[in-house]
Amino acid sequence: MSAQLIDGKAFAATVREKVATQVEKLKEVHGITPGLAVVLVGEDPASEVYVRNKGKQTLECGMNSYEHKLSSDTSEADLLTLIETLNADPAVHGILVQLPLPDHLDSDLVINAIDPAKDVDGFHISNVGLLATGQKAMVPCTPLGCLMMLRDHYGSLSGLNAVVVGRSNIVGKPMAQLLLRDSCTVTIAHSRTKDIAEVCRGADILVAAVGRPEMIPGNWVKPGATVIDVGINRIERDGKRKLVGDVDFASAVEVAGVITPVPGGVGPMTIACLLANTLTACCRAHDLPEPS
Ligand code: NDP
Repeated sequence: MSAQLIDGKAFAATVREKVATQVEKLKEVHGITPGLAVVLVGEDPASEVYVRNKGKQTLECGMNSYEHKLSSDTSEADLLTLIETLNADPAVHGILVQLPLPDHLDSDLVINAIDPAKDVDGFHISNVGLLATGQKAMVPCTPLGCLMMLRDHYGSLSGLNAVVVGRSNIVGKPMAQLLLRDSCTVTIAHSRTKDIAEVCRGADILVAAVGRPEMIPGNWVKPGATVIDVGINRIERDGKRKLVGDVDFASAVEVAGVITPVPGGVGPMTIACLLANTLTACCRAHDLPEPS
């Protein structure tokens, strides 16, 4: 039997529509337009595509988009000065510095220079701490998108066994924190985990955020489990370039109850959540009720 697919593209479109409606209301009732500033340093082609898409979707939602493209040899001091300017700009409610940064720039230093209230990526150390302690935080977009899809499917996640494969600061760790906050029993697996296949087989919810093409086969999946594949891997097969996840979709789809495809699963949710976070940041900045 084949698993049910979660259509991330359609889900993301619904989130964006909801954001757009709320933005429209903010403009009409309060005369406020949320603004998102995206900073790109260097010419990494994948980052350029991401930044272009973010700018386009920001405008489509009725928000203001401010793009700052800096050359790859930009100094740390110049980048920090730009961040200070954006922190002080009342028209900017969200600031995103596209990662990875060139090697000569210290990402931690740069991210932690962003005003936490404008840190729509949720990577600032204050937001990480707020999330870990169950307080009101800016939540990283990709895990937030995964959580939204899971809540939509299950309603309550309470008591479910969740296994997150991957412990990065941008996906694995915040994903685990969010699942814990929703009362899952959470295991984080990583490259040193012993008998990882068996660990995965215990999961009602299996989140793969590894960065290794099709690493998780169907026989690591508990029958009927929900599989969320965060991986985005570009591979070449039969002479063609292809995008695959961290899960071997062909075998996993036969075992899982529900699964996100790649592409078209988690991917589209990330920008939708970025827009939702920008709207939230704007409402908080103006002491308005937060969007639901
Ligand atoms: P990182 O490289 O930062 O982290 C990968 C994690 O996977 C590490 O914790 C690592 O463990 C673990 N890992 C690596 N190899 C193995 C293995 N053989 N067995 C078990 N665990 C392993 O990646 P990210 O978290 O940044 O990204 C993960 C994936 O998600 C990538 O494919 C990325 O492209 C994708 N991604 C997708 C997004 C989207 O919008 N859909 C957004 C962000 C990322 P250890 O710590 O022990 O080294």
